[in-house]
Amino acid sequence: MAARQSPRSKTPVKLISATRLLSFPRIRQLQAEFPAYYVKETLKAVLREVRLEILDAGPEHPEPIDVSPETIEARIDERIRQNFRPGVRPAINASGIILHTGLGRAPFAEPAREALAAAVRGYCTLEVEEATGRRGSRHRHVEHLLTFLTGAEAACVVNNNAAAVLLVLNSLADGREVIISRGQLVEIGGAFRMPDVMAGSGAAMVEVGTTNRTHFRDYESAVSGRTAMIQVVHPSNYRISGFTSDVPLARLRQLCDRHGLALVHDIGSGCLLDLSRYGLSAEPLVQDSVAAGADVVTFSGDKLLGGPQCGIIVGKKELLDGIIQNPLCRVLRCDKIIYSVLEATLKLFLDRDTLARRLPVLSMATEPLEAVRRRAESLIELVRPQVDESCRLELVDGESQMGSGSMPARAIPTGLVALECTGLPTEELGRRLRTGDPPVFARIADGRLMLDLRTVSERECRLLAASVIRALRQE
Ligand SMILES: *Cc1c(COP(=O)(O)O)cnc(C)c1O
Repeated sequence: MAARQSPRSKTPVKLISATRLLSFPRIRQLQAEFPAYYVKETLKAVLREVRLEILDAGPEHPEPIDVSPETIEARIDERIRQNFRPGVRPAINASGIILHTGLGRAPFAEPAREALAAAVRGYCTLEVEEATGRRGSRHRHVEHLLTFLTGAEAACVVNNNAAAVLLVLNSLADGREVIISRGQLVEIGGAFRMPDVMAGSGAAMVEVGTTNRTHFRDYESAVSGRTAMIQVVHPSNYRISGFTSDVPLARLRQLCDRHGLALVHDIGSGCLLDLSRYGLSAEPLVQDSVAAGADVVTFSGDKLLGGPQCGIIVGKKELLDGIIQNPLCRVLRCDKIIYSVLEATLKLFLDRDTLARRLPVLSMATEPLEAVRRRAESLIELVRPQVDESCRLELVDGESQMGSGSMPARAIPTGLVALECTGLPTEELGRRLRTGDPPVFARIADGRLMLDLRTVSERECRLLAASVIRALRQE
């Protein structure tokens, strides 16, 4: 019988000792599989936790605390296996959200993965000048590509776009005023709020206009002796429609010239080529902002660019020099992993004929609906013979999303496998898929589990089928 603490008894609970537990077969097995020292320390930590739980519960606690050696042993086993499983594991994205922040945003292109593997195999030329042997600049690896692709004079890269925005504000407007339209005070997922970033940068925010309409004269009358710059922000994840008005960059350029202000554009997703040629909705292009007169443009490396997490800053050389000199730039710098992946990703943009095929974000977004539906059909064919009639699978039409605030108003037609099973709540099915190996992320609509095949590759389709079968068979 398992030793249990009696609810009413005041007699102290007898807890198994660490020494005895160490001789249990399951713990011995753990010590063979994992570092023995780690197993022993985890065992002691679990025992301490149980002791505290007993104390916390007190003798009057209605639920007796299970202190049987088997339960404690199982708890140790589970803890160690859980902690040793890789935290960042490969997962199957069947959600249809192409840039899913929770799932790591953009999957890397093949050349980017190769460049990454090569850069981390040993040492690499991250920050040296080969010719002189002196310390070089890490920015040079991608600056020529970024200036070529955007038409800007100079470029640098930091940890993410939130960091880029903060760094630019701090470099150009610390202790001075920044004018921004009320229609552009965005909140991006994950606690990026423009007013907070502004406050953190040391710049004083001067809001102008209204939520739906901001005019040239609003900007004009807000300029003071303390104004350093005008910040324009692309409303990535929402659209203001109806009775609206905002001021084009070229007009703001005139105002900035008149008063000697910097014009900065946070474009968010940062598109480097016109997506309407692929039938996708047009996102603002970095090169258009540069051409329209923005002094500095900031954007993400892992949204539509399809690269690693980073924030890219392009613009006038004079301003970029100051930004790179800012000690904050050192704080926010990227490492060799980012530069190798970003460089290889940017090179794909040099060949526009092959880009849509080679960059996963674009190949997923542009794959013809028929091809996605065929993959959905083959998933159904793989699963159906393996499960009984209580499980129903059906191919239905649906919509995928670009995600991460890119192209918010436009959905991409897709093929979904709708899944439902008598006696198995959809929530539970979703939970089983998420906690499986590999974890699968789907979505729920109309009470059914929906697997979107647009974000599942041909290679992953078989893995997905096996995961679905396991989940449906309650394995
Ligand atoms: C996404 C986004 C950011 C934040 O970029 P991260 O790379 O996620 O840090 C900032 N501004 C805009 C307009 C965005 O769309």
